[in-house]
Amino acid sequence: MDRPAFRLVAAFAAALLAFLLVPADARANSVHDDPVVEPACHSTSSADVELIDMVALSSWNCADKGWRADQPAAWIRFDARSWADKEKPRYFFTRNARFETITFGVLDEDGTLRTLRYSEDMAEPFAGGPVFRLELPEVMDDTSAVIVKIDKPHSVPLLTEARLSFHPEDASWTQFDMMLLALVVGMLVLPLFFDVSFFIVLKERFVVTHAVMVASMIVYVLFAGGLITVFADVPLRVMAVAGPLCWAIGCGLSAMFLVDFLEKDAQSSFMRRLTVATGVWTVFVPGFFALQLHATQPVDDLLYFYTFIPAMVIITAAIAEALWRGSKSARFLAFAWSPIILSSLERMMRGLGVYAGPSQLDQTLYLAVGLEVIVISLAIASRFLAIRRERDAAVTEAELLEQLSTHDPLTGLMNRRAVEERFADLQAQGFDTFALIDLDHFKAINDRFGHQVGDKALVACGHALRGNDERDSIAVRLGGEEFVVLLRGKGALERAEALRQSITVRIARDVEGLERPVTASMGVIELPRASDQLMGFDELYSRADQLLYNAKAAGRNRTCFERLTVFNKPPATRDKPRSKAKPDKAAA
Ligand code: GH3
Ligand code: MG
Ligand code: MG
Repeated sequence: MDRPAFRLVAAFAAALLAFLLVPADARANSVHDDPVVEPACHSTSSADVELIDMVALSSWNCADKGWRADQPAAWIRFDARSWADKEKPRYFFTRNARFETITFGVLDEDGTLRTLRYSEDMAEPFAGGPVFRLELPEVMDDTSAVIVKIDKPHSVPLLTEARLSFHPEDASWTQFDMMLLALVVGMLVLPLFFDVSFFIVLKERFVVTHAVMVASMIVYVLFAGGLITVFADVPLRVMAVAGPLCWAIGCGLSAMFLVDFLEKDAQSSFMRRLTVATGVWTVFVPGFFALQLHATQPVDDLLYFYTFIPAMVIITAAIAEALWRGSKSARFLAFAWSPIILSSLERMMRGLGVYAGPSQLDQTLYLAVGLEVIVISLAIASRFLAIRRERDAAVTEAELLEQLSTHDPLTGLMNRRAVEERFADLQAQGFDTFALIDLDHFKAINDRFGHQVGDKALVACGHALRGNDERDSIAVRLGGEEFVVLLRGKGALERAEALRQSITVRIARDVEGLERPVTASMGVIELPRASDQLMGFDELYSRADQLLYNAKAAGRNRTCFERLTVFNKPPATRDKPRSKAKPDKAAA
């Protein structure tokens, strides 16, 4: 991770930690001093025990432990001394989870019992955390207890977090807690847009996996934190299932993301297969128990948590292996996922009833999720830059290779292969003049002044031939000390001649230690304009070579020229080239 990004995330994490260390009460801003009533005792029974029988029974557990959600019915008792000097409680609320029915019994001192039975559909989720509420039968001055029977409860927190309240909006979560949750949702939405734009450029699968992962985490936070009820009336059934289901999907996708996101060599093939299998398992197995079907009621609460264990163990092991193999991406993942793994361990222990903590502890997990998404988005951005750098380097290399394969390394001019490939195009673009140039007595130059001086002369020749009208003349080194210049436009022959003469001047200027001028001979062919009689490179070359030969034979340092007419088609011209050896009009 680059340093500024790392500092930013570290600062955020520190602020988060500081915030979480402030006790929840200190953050509470409720208008009522003590807005809720905690349960005094609890119990479990078979389904057919009636409220009135429970009043008489003494099987109540009045310690805050031993909660169980795997029995047919769970019982909770609130005692009147808990609200002694206050108003009368009017509502019951608790954490979202599925159940079959909830029956309230309000017991007065004289033995009167007012009962009210609710089905799951009647539960009212509201924006006070992951909670729903039900209205109690009337509580009187002489009420001694409120007894609650929950048939087929699907989770321990459904029992441990049960409270009575005096006002409909009162809940354990404050507005501040809900705002914090909204903040987390906000944190999650932005990376979703990043993912879309990254995908447009990168087309990498891990970006899609991450987007789906983030989307499921957004749904998770909206439902599991109860925030969605601000926007819509959602039945408890959906509230209770959507959160854990999205969590299972999100965790399963995290395993898939891990496989796609880690560098190819960061995982052994065994670990990769194991991680993928864990991903699939987590979506489907805990995902199934998240549905809280009534048939699975005795086991789903425990199995939902226990079936997450493989994901936690294997994802941790996969990151450890990748770290060990020196993966950079794994460092991001370790940083991003350890808060989640730790806080979901905490959440798991609470869910299993190992201890009963306040539901605000859930916020640690939501914030860890927010942090995770930010860190992973930074990781994706970093990967995005790395991939782009790799691609740029590959493009540069390809361009270099292309340059090497089409250009002569000594003079930088185009080589024979390249010009042959493009010859038809060039002719179509109007390059109708073909000038073949060969340095005179070059072997002698090499022999007298050395090969290196010869090379310098070739380079200078290349500079001279490149000229200064690159649009209308193209210089090519065919090999050795032989060059071709293709020209188009007005005065092509004169321009070719000027180039030939400039060779001598340029070599004399650029190459030290040459005691005599280096001249060149040239054979030029001009094709008829607007002719569709396009000639191949080889044919033009051999015709120009003949002219060049003539120029050499006539004493070198001169040009022979031939203009082909429309009627001058091969083979008619071959036997009798209308070549005129130009006078040595240009000797330097
Ligand atoms: P002519 O006037 O008839 O063309 O005579 P010439 O000596 O130029 O012709 P010849 O074909 O006999 O010699 C060409 C020489 O060019 C031979 C070789 O040593 C030299 N040569 C070819 N390629 C290179 C090169 O890349 N560098 C140098 N320094 N010399 C080269
Ligand atoms: Mg030569
Ligand atoms: Mg030669």
